[in-house]
Amino acid sequence: MQRRHVRYRWDRIAALGSTLALLCLLLVAWISPDETDEVELALEHPGGTVASGPIKVPASFPKQQSDISDAKQEPYKEVENEVLPCSCNKGVLRLPKNPYKGHQHAARNLPNSFFVKNDAELRAGKSRGNLVDVTDGRGYHIAPLSHSHALLLPEVKSLLEDMGQAFADELVGTKSDGTVFRVTSLTRTAKQQARLGRRNYNAINGGSTHSYGASFDIAYTDRPNNDADCSTPTRAIQKVLKTFQKSGRILVIPEKNCMHITLRP
Ligand SMILES: [Zn+2]
Repeated sequence: MQRRHVRYRWDRIAALGSTLALLCLLLVAWISPDETDEVELALEHPGGTVASGPIKVPASFPKQQSDISDAKQEPYKEVENEVLPCSCNKGVLRLPKNPYKGHQHAARNLPNSFFVKNDAELRAGKSRGNLVDVTDGRGYHIAPLSHSHALLLPEVKSLLEDMGQAFADELVGTKSDGTVFRVTSLTRTAKQQARLGRRNYNAINGGSTHSYGASFDIAYTDRPNNDADCSTPTRAIQKVLKTFQKSGRILVIPEKNCMHITLRP
């Protein structure tokens, strides 16, 4: 009687052990910041290939947004008079990935950066001058935003302006002159971030770098017309990102739907 009892217990321990191991694996996958960031980004860019579920697109969103999943590199000639955007993500650009932990460390250590919990803190940061309005500039434009605010830390806004200038300079004298890169996400409050993610990973990992006003995403380059294909703007944005990354000014994560950029302190 007793012996049989012991044998059954070992069986149970083995079963329990493998269940625990499986749970640990699931937990690690669950809290992985990079994966979570990709989920957020997928939700942030509804036209992307990995987006799923019902997502509200603002009425003012450019018409071409709905065609983005087809907007790889070729079909422009087939759609007359319509200028499709050129993708700017890990599928088309070759850049080393800086780990997300480094982005978080940078975001926390930028001068006057703070974790923007909600709209009240956003307004307070704005009135202190720690967050500044961002509007379209040379070489870049801001997409209609549904999950973030067009605000950044002043130093990050300067970075964006410098990248815009560098990008526009690359295209001067080419058929692609006038192409601008599209910024699709800037500062998100923790509340907006939580609404984006399936789970509240802010509490676990210290927050998205978007909640510090330290990051922005570039998802496309937009050409003024169909005179030239995507090759020149794509090479130009790749060169700009690489130069800024190599010089130590930015950290980059190439994502499925965009390039995630964080200023280094
Ligand atoms: Zn991002």
